[in-house]
Amino acid sequence: MPDSENRWSRRDFFKTVALSGAGSLLAPAAHLAEAADSNLQVPQRPFGNSGINVSILSLGGMFNIASNQIMLRQAMRWGVTYWDTADCYQNGSEKGIGKYFSKYPEDRQKVFLVSKADDPSPRGMSRLLDRSLDRMQTDYIDLYFVHGIYRIDEMDDSTRIWAEKAKAAGKIRLFGFSTHSNMEACMLAAARLGWIDGIMMTYNYRLMHTDRMQRAVDACVKAGIGLTAMKTQGGGSVRTDTDTELKLAGRFMQKGFSDAQAKLMAVWQNPQIASICSQMPNMSILMANTAAAMDKTELSATDRKLLQQYARETHRDYCAGCSAICQSAVGEKAPIADVMRYLMYCRSYGDRDYARAEYRKIPPEIRQRLTGIDYAAAEKKCPQKMAIARLMQEAADELG
Ligand code: SF4
Repeated sequence: MPDSENRWSRRDFFKTVALSGAGSLLAPAAHLAEAADSNLQVPQRPFGNSGINVSILSLGGMFNIASNQIMLRQAMRWGVTYWDTADCYQNGSEKGIGKYFSKYPEDRQKVFLVSKADDPSPRGMSRLLDRSLDRMQTDYIDLYFVHGIYRIDEMDDSTRIWAEKAKAAGKIRLFGFSTHSNMEACMLAAARLGWIDGIMMTYNYRLMHTDRMQRAVDACVKAGIGLTAMKTQGGGSVRTDTDTELKLAGRFMQKGFSDAQAKLMAVWQNPQIASICSQMPNMSILMANTAAAMDKTELSATDRKLLQQYARETHRDYCAGCSAICQSAVGEKAPIADVMRYLMYCRSYGDRDYARAEYRKIPPEIRQRLTGIDYAAAEKKCPQKMAIARLMQEAADELG
């Protein structure tokens, strides 16, 4: 068998095992059996200076919760009590949570509930917050985010006043934003604002060691801001297949966990991160991630080095979200980082429908121009050295 075929079959084996959760059967079976016997729960960490402890694993709500109520029930049993959703998530995410709370109202107080508004204007947030409360059958949301900011100036004084009023009315307990673009700059600026309680940002083994990200995290922790990591798998806009990836998967399998679990563990090893928000649309992934959260095994220095080596080898495949760089280079409106993220949803997460739906939200007049733009200057400035022009064309072909 040629080496490339041999590599693919081994790679597919590891991927299949990891995706099915079987790769996590060694550690999880023991931990979850133990959990059933002893009420072992996912550990908790303080959320910034809020005085609230949250589970270190957060259930991302981008799945059909209404018809998967068993997932919420099981998450509660294992102590995954930080639940994340947004007003714009498809499949009735918020309504699914409401369905659960109307059946198990006693669980509401045990859950740290997060939702997000994708309209940051005070009027928009008021409308969306009331709708979220109604959908989720609750009087309050623990942490309310402005959804997916690109720059801190999207949060101005009117935002602060709105948040203070919403808190005074008892509708929210904490306030902040989520971001997967220009995360470090947003975080550094948020730390100076003095009224941001929590941030959910892209953060993973690829980004966590950069000076900029470390400075941003340090500043937020010093300011008492609770941090939730998302996109922790560091999935790329390009499918990868490197020898280091194989070595990683094989090494972690031998130790009893999958590479997906190892990537979570790498983030948890930083105590500054309160929680990881992970999309867990089925029981296998919930089980694998819960087991990883309960596992007290630390990644060794060699494990971490291998992850960093893999990140270096595949840097051209991963968009770091620094959209201010490529955006300013093209000189016209071109949501490059967003398109790279949609490619990631399609290629790394395997969720083509969601990726296409998001891509098609780009206004048609902008979408039509995306493949005709000269991206040469952006490619030159891109710190990841991504093939932006080619990927924008591929996105149009695959998602348009
Ligand atoms: S394409 Fe490059 S410059 Fe643009 S956001 Fe991604 S990594 Fe940054």
